[in-house]
Amino acid sequence: MSIEKAVVMKNRWVRVVFGVLIAVAGFTPVVIFAQQARSPVAPRREFVESVVREAYDKYKNDASGKNADYIPYLAQVDSKLFGVAIVTTDNQVLTLGDVNYAFSIQSISKVFTLALAMEELGPDKVFDKIGSEPTGRAFNSVPAVVDMPTHTGNPYVNAGAIATTSLVSGKDADEKWNNILAFYSKVAGDKLSLIEDVYKSEAATNAGNKALAMLLAKYDRIYADPFESVDIYTKQCSVGVNALQLARMGATLANNGVNPATGEQVIRREDVPYILSSMAMAGLYDGSGGWAWHVGLPAKSGVGGGIVAIAPGKGAIAVFAPPLDEAGNSVKAQKVIEYVARKLNYNLFSPSSVGLK
Ligand code: GLU
Repeated sequence: MSIEKAVVMKNRWVRVVFGVLIAVAGFTPVVIFAQQARSPVAPRREFVESVVREAYDKYKNDASGKNADYIPYLAQVDSKLFGVAIVTTDNQVLTLGDVNYAFSIQSISKVFTLALAMEELGPDKVFDKIGSEPTGRAFNSVPAVVDMPTHTGNPYVNAGAIATTSLVSGKDADEKWNNILAFYSKVAGDKLSLIEDVYKSEAATNAGNKALAMLLAKYDRIYADPFESVDIYTKQCSVGVNALQLARMGATLANNGVNPATGEQVIRREDVPYILSSMAMAGLYDGSGGWAWHVGLPAKSGVGGGIVAIAPGKGAIAVFAPPLDEAGNSVKAQKVIEYVARKLNYNLFSPSSVGLK
């Protein structure tokens, strides 16, 4: 028998066997089973809910850390605000606490501007122009720009992020900014907007970022007007998101770039591994090594108090709690995500996280 004929015969048999299965079992149970096998929450939704509740109760009175104050607006945000949201790749949602409060996305924006730059230029060009090396320094470090061979370091420190923003296309600053905001909104599956007061507060105090941009210009490592790029970057950091929207943005990454709520492919599938690997390298600034050790999930934090962590193929957890540690990462968010990821066995570096006994 020819190979083609054998394949046709085999396909015919598969159709017959599948048809019998449907007739005997009914279609519905088959579909439900397939969904349950895929979902990280069902069939253990109650367990996941109880783990999130435990973590929330355990840390809700933890008063350690301090709001960021180098951006005056952030110092005034209520430091008791605390929200946790999980969105899975099959769009199941769990929320607890202050999940509707819109906080500034800050550094977490860097992840999505990177995604947009890669969509426009492809990952190789972006890698050449920005790099992906951890700096081991503060997120706004000037010495890192001088010392690192790439100068930009990676897309998640301020220098690399401002350079990434400078790659985004648009005929003028307004068009570039509108492209960025529209892209974030698609990823969130909701219309996002600028928090004007955050933008004003940050624009009045961003001399350090302007200095970084000028330094990059000296090394030919910024790709549009330096001050225009800082201004657009400052706007992107001032975009408001709530914990639920942020979890959905994370779940879109977990779901190969398809927003689980809208079903739209909003980030290119082939770019997702680059985005997640750079989050694993540098998502929590110079706390990234400790985070990989303790949690083992790609994540990104912002000085507004948000952190989003991604369990690829499963979903994302976003936590918002303003007080930060020395490195600029939300204290409570780190503790909650570590607790939940451990209980659910989501550490990516653990073979048992993918079922190996
Ligand atoms: N807009 C902040 C800055 O440029 C972002 C920093 C952060 O969240 O880490 O300083």
